[in-house]
Formats: sequence, structure tokens, C-alpha cells
Amino acid sequence: MAKDNFHRKIDYLRISVTDRCNLRCIYCMPEEGITLLNHDEILTYEEIIKISRAAVKAGLTRIRITGGEPLVRKDITELISEIAAIPGVRDLSLTTNGIYLENMAEELYSSGLRRINISLDTLNPERYLKITRGGDLNRVLKGIDRAIEVGFNPVKINTVAIKGVVEDELERFKELVYVKPVHVRFIEKMDITNSDSQGFYSCKEIMERFSKTTEIEETEGPVGAGPARYIKLKRAKGTIGFIGLYSEHFCDSCNRLRLTADGKLRTCLFAGEEFDLKTFIRNGASQEEIVDFIEKALKKKPENFKEALKSKGERTMRQIGG
Ligand code: SAM
Ligand code: SF4
Repeated sequence: MAKDNFHRKIDYLRISVTDRCNLRCIYCMPEEGITLLNHDEILTYEEIIKISRAAVKAGLTRIRITGGEPLVRKDITELISEIAAIPGVRDLSLTTNGIYLENMAEELYSSGLRRINISLDTLNPERYLKITRGGDLNRVLKGIDRAIEVGFNPVKINTVAIKGVVEDELERFKELVYVKPVHVRFIEKMDITNSDSQGFYSCKEIMERFSKTTEIEETEGPVGAGPARYIKLKRAKGTIGFIGLYSEHFCDSCNRLRLTADGKLRTCLFAGEEFDLKTFIRNGASQEEIVDFIEKALKKKPENFKEALKSKGERTMRQIGG
């Protein structure tokens, strides 16, 4: 089992498979002027699999596929089935904006994926169009239904809490967990490069509003590797969760490393420091050497995001892999 220098068990790797995306969410990407990675800068599937095998040996047995938008990368289900087949992978999941999910849910499930997170910040079509700069809410809703239908469990909805949006949609999100077996998690908007200045709304405020209007109880929440707190609403099919970087002690239980699409290991979302695993691999590193590389990198994980910010980088969520 891998532990960092602050006695945290590190068992979770988030792999970004692309920096490309079919949306342009206001808190994640600028509207235009994006520099994309060239094809040869991006890790090949063979390289990602090699790293995943080594990561599992280093104790990172939970893997999430993310991006950019992972479903825009060609043959993504082939990568998923190869990772799912690596001995020792205890958990494999994917984060998507859901735009291509209706068509791909079945194939993703057949490739061995069982858990899926879908990002959805509003249930209002006009707002969705604005926040994502062009997305069609209906496609995401159909994608969610299809994911449930083909058997994904749990299906989690990631909702970035945006002031001016989330306050008057709490009742609609509540309704969603009453009628569908989904787990809505409100996420505090993080101040990452290129994220817009649109308002921050804290998990604490959301929780307070819920407790005023609804009978709730704290609960364990669905299977997963993240640092969320969950509440159950009486008779609901799903749960509501909170991921509060700023209002919870999020960093104490952080268990993750990130691999960017261009093969850099990052020990924290907020730290600028990157470990160039791609060059190491392309120079012919053996599996033992890659395991050693990962183990050494995770020892550099900062204690918390405030420490990490001292070396803040210039990459956006889409580039780092959210
Ligand atoms: N494109 C996929 C999606 O949107 O689900 C996967 C990548 S996206 C970068 C992963 C997650 O990061 C999404 O749930 C998104 O809402 C979240 N995210 C992006 N920028 C963020 C920010 N500034 N603060 C909080 N969450 C953010
Ligand atoms: Fe794309 Fe996801 Fe970023 Fe939105 S949050 S722009 S869907 S990568």
C-alpha cells in the first residue's frame, strides 16, 4: 500500500485521456484561443496501459478515466476494457459531460465499466446552453437515463455550485434524486487557471438550505473513492453529496494522483509541479522503474492545497484532468 509523507493512503489514479472537449464550460475553459496538444504529445493507449499496470503495482488500484471529454477520444472503450482486465484494478470509473452517453452507454458497460459520473450543473436548458457554451441539456438527460438502464451503479451527477444557478434549482435537483437512482454531488467551484469569475456558492450554504426544507439524515453514500459527505432524503432513490474543497477538510483525506493527457504525473490539482512520466517511458523505462517513479512522485504530494498553491501552475482543469 502506498502512503505519502503525511500518512495518507494513495490508491487512486485519475487518468486524463485527452485535453479536447466538445463543450466549453465557463469555469473550465476560455471561449476561444485554446492551444491543444499535438497527437504525438498525447500518451498512446499502450503507454496508458503500461502506466496503469505500474500504478496498480504501486498500490493505486482505483482508476478513473477523465479529460477533457474522455468520450471524444477514438476507441475509448478499447482502452477501458484493457484497463478493466489488469489484475489488481479494484475499481474503474469514468467522468463525462454526458453529451455522447446515450449512444455509448451500452458499449462502455460491455467494456467493463461499472461506475460513471456525469457533470451537470443546471436542469434548465437555457442555462445549460450558457454554462457549457453550446451544450444540449436534453442529450445529457437521455444519457443519464440510458446509463441507469444499461446497469451503471452508482450513477453520480457532479454539479458545480454556481451562485445565481444552484440556489433556485435545489428543489429540482432534489426531485431528481426522488425519481431516479442517482447521486447528486454539489462541488465547490475551484479557482483554477481560466475558470471564470462567476460566483462561488459553498456546500455549507447548500446544506443549510436543505436542512431547512427537507428531512435529512447523514449517510455513507455510494461506492467511490472521493472525499464527499452524503445526506439521504427520506424515501428518495438516490442521495445528495457535497464536495467542499473550501468548507470541508478535503485535503486530509486526499488519496489521489493525476496523470495528464501528455503524460505528466501531478500530485495535486493545485500544485504546478509535474513529473514527466511520458519522457521517462519513451526513453525505455522498465515496469519496475515506472513503479519506482510513481512511488517517488507520490512522496512529493503537498500536505494541502494552500501548500500546493505555492507552486501553482498555468494549466486548466481540461488540461490537468478534472
Ligand atoms: N469533460 C468531463 C466532464 O465535464 O465531466 C470530464 C472532465 S471535467 C474537467 C471533470 C470535472 O471537473 C467536471 O465535473 C467539471 O464540472 C469539474 N470542473 C471543471 N472546472 C472546475 C472548477 N473550476 N471547479 C470545480 N470543478 C470543476
Ligand atoms: Fe469540457 Fe468537462 Fe471542462 Fe466542461 S468541465 S469544458 S465538459 S472538460
